[in-house]
Amino acid sequence: MDFALGQELEAFRREVREFIRTEAPPQWQWSRYAFDHYSHDDATERFARAMAAKLGKRGWLSLTWPEEHGGKKASPLFQLALAEELEYRGCPGVDIFGVGMIAPTLLRFASEEQKREHLPGIASGTNFWCECLSEPGAGSDLASLGTQAVEHGDDYVVNGQKVWTSGAHRADWCILLARTDRELPRHKGVSFFLVNMKTPGITVRPLINMAGDHESNEVYFDGVRVPGRNLIGGKNRGWPVVLGLLDFERATAVPFYVVARHYLEVIARHAGRAGAPRQTLRRHLADLAVQCEIGRLLAYRAAWLQGEGQPFDTEAAKVKLYTVELNQRVAAAGMEALGLHGGLLEGSKQAPLDGRAPWYYLRSIGNTLEAGASEIDRDIIASRGLGLPRG
Ligand SMILES: Cc1cc2nc3c(=O)[nH]c(=O)nc-3n(C[C@H](O)[C@H](O)[C@H](O)COP(=O)(O)OP(=O)(O)OC[C@H]3O[C@@H](n4cnc5c(N)ncnc54)[C@H](O)[C@@H]3O)c2cc1C
Repeated sequence: MDFALGQELEAFRREVREFIRTEAPPQWQWSRYAFDHYSHDDATERFARAMAAKLGKRGWLSLTWPEEHGGKKASPLFQLALAEELEYRGCPGVDIFGVGMIAPTLLRFASEEQKREHLPGIASGTNFWCECLSEPGAGSDLASLGTQAVEHGDDYVVNGQKVWTSGAHRADWCILLARTDRELPRHKGVSFFLVNMKTPGITVRPLINMAGDHESNEVYFDGVRVPGRNLIGGKNRGWPVVLGLLDFERATAVPFYVVARHYLEVIARHAGRAGAPRQTLRRHLADLAVQCEIGRLLAYRAAWLQGEGQPFDTEAAKVKLYTVELNQRVAAAGMEALGLHGGLLEGSKQAPLDGRAPWYYLRSIGNTLEAGASEIDRDIIASRGLGLPRG
């Protein structure tokens, strides 16, 4: 790994911090929205979109893109540094789907015409995206999906249901994986589409998560017409495209180690104010601080490999696996450190940290499922990283 970018990267980081200091009001200096930046309520969405527009104006939503598409051709480490700084403060503005996953996927797999049509909306922060992959019967085993897209003239007509779609109730566009050939082997008969969420026939229904937030949705497609020009990678060639997208998602989309580190610092400050915490807790928090650094180095390595044009799929699975499980450990440590009062919810006068601890703990449980279950990450590391045959 080459850290020669050190000074340049640190200068950029300082610029981002100054931007956040001047643009984000104090209520955003806390990681309440760290996993999900805009879907909670209208005010959050308005702020997220305003921030996205400002970031877009600075060219910070297209940092790594080639110059011909308006990018700065920067190392992915810059995009990661931007995400780290924003995420540390729970500050919205980077659409993790559009910027973190869909743009790099389009740059790799889309035609020049498709790039010209869809990249500007991401670079400017105008279009927010969501990801319609999972279905009630297709999660880890995504290739078993049943949503169908049937060719009709220049269009495809889509029927089916997706589930757990984060942010679908506020997104402008989605990526959709649908079956376009039932006769072909499962992985070979699927295609990858870009769909405008305003298209007639799309119905979005809320799913409230165990932390009480509306973040996920069911999305129903009922005779939805998608223009054939929105097919990425060709008919029945969607599988490599979605695998590429998932690598980007695992590698850098959400720097969970930053969310974890910020929360760890918050609980350490809180525990310290109440006097010296017991030795076992002190040591546990210290161990977690080391683990946050390990998560960071894993993410830097995956981003660096990405920038070098080298395969980073195994490293991406390591980042996702390690950092989400770390985040869960930190969330559990928060509950332990705050003691009995720690279980009190937001709104209670006695609740420490505004009742964020139980919210954080409950929200963290989904971390080992979203963007692919931990067992699947372990499977990738075992088979692609260690060359172990599948059991
Ligand atoms: C907060 C959150 C946000 C999400 N956002 C989105 C989104 O925006 N878009 C989207 O498309 N999806 C989204 N998802 C869905 C997510 O991708 C799926 O939950 C995930 O892929 C697991 O699928 P599943 O829920 O069907 O569980 P299953 O695949 O049924 O798995 C259930 C359990 O069995 C285990 N398991 C499954 N297969 C294997 C195996 N081969 N070996 C060992 N263990 C196995 C899993 O690890 C898991 O513990 C989100 C999920 C959550 C929780």
